[in-house]
Amino acid sequence: GSTIGILGGGQLGRMLAVAAAQLGYRSHVYAPEATGPATEVAAEWTQGRFEDADAMRAFAARVDVATYEFENIDPQAVAFLSGRVRVHPPVRALDVARYRPNEKALVTELGGRTAPYREVASAADLARALREIGAPAILKTTLFGYDGKGQVRIDDIGDAEAAWAALGSPPALPAGVPAIVEGRIDFLAEFSVLLARGRDGQVVTWDTPENVHHDGILATSTVPARGVIVEQAEAAIDVARNIAERLDYVGVMAAEFFATPDGPVFNEMAPRVHNSGHWTIEGAECSQFENHIRAICGLPLGSTALTGARVTMENLVGAQADAWPRLLAEPGAHLHLYGKGDSRPGRKMGHVTRVMR
Ligand code: ATP
Ligand code: MG
Ligand code: MG
Repeated sequence: GSTIGILGGGQLGRMLAVAAAQLGYRSHVYAPEATGPATEVAAEWTQGRFEDADAMRAFAARVDVATYEFENIDPQAVAFLSGRVRVHPPVRALDVARYRPNEKALVTELGGRTAPYREVASAADLARALREIGAPAILKTTLFGYDGKGQVRIDDIGDAEAAWAALGSPPALPAGVPAIVEGRIDFLAEFSVLLARGRDGQVVTWDTPENVHHDGILATSTVPARGVIVEQAEAAIDVARNIAERLDYVGVMAAEFFATPDGPVFNEMAPRVHNSGHWTIEGAECSQFENHIRAICGLPLGSTALTGARVTMENLVGAQADAWPRLLAEPGAHLHLYGKGDSRPGRKMGHVTRVMR
């Protein structure tokens, strides 16, 4: 059979490899770490840095198609790979999604709304930006942020110096700015658009989940979402579809939105399967993982219809193994564990999905 190459060794790669296996594919995981949730279930794996040209060349020779499960990869490394083997989604998607100013600029260009924002490279830049966009605001690193890390909340426009110091010194970038400051949106709710686009341009979307975050980390996703989200879903799906088309995207893409009284406001996108789509494993006819594999392999996409009246996904963040028996005993609860040995506060250990008929 064919082999799918996966850059990144986390739980998203693990669930992609499981979906690939169901369709008869082998997986080859390439990750900087020696072990991880994905490497443990892959048929083959390479431990290496993404910048290691020899290792990437060898990887390319052993896989039939490659994809990535996280966006903090140097786009140049993915471009190098793309010269040797088919890679989906395209490098352009990585260029846009991993750098906050790029994703916001693209959405603005496509007619979507974002929070007001300014690119900032110093405390003085930040002070000026805060005078323009006002408070409350959020200062974020432009690169490498996830689970709310690399963010500082600003309540007063006089707090520029302190906020800049609290961000620490973000790594120097070869191009671009280290940080962005955004106006804080007083949202009614948060939701995400989950979309899959095939090689032939066919687009499917799942129900838009309502997402609740605790301490910047996704806690739960629920479908159907509340009415305030359902009313805004179509406009948000249009934005996500336009992004996918502009990028000639292939695979699953996620876009996070705030529902506001004035309509949906785009927050950020992920060029990959997404935590807010984990419910699709049991809660949809075809999961985000299966449709990602189908899309990158050029197969027809599967139905995204709900399998129940209501589906919830709860992240097991910082959870301990003594919580598993209770979940295993619960009828209709689907427990997914990522095989991570040590639980730490804020670490995603697994998730549980409940489908109500
Ligand atoms: P992840 O990639 O894990 O979703 P992240 O670190 O990229 O997270 P964001 O999605 O930018 O972080 O922010 C995390 C959460 O913080 C958001 O889901 C939202 O709850 C809140 N947040 C971020 N930006 C804003 C904003 N401009 N206004 C209001 N809330 C915000
Ligand atoms: Mg993010
Ligand atoms: Mg986010």
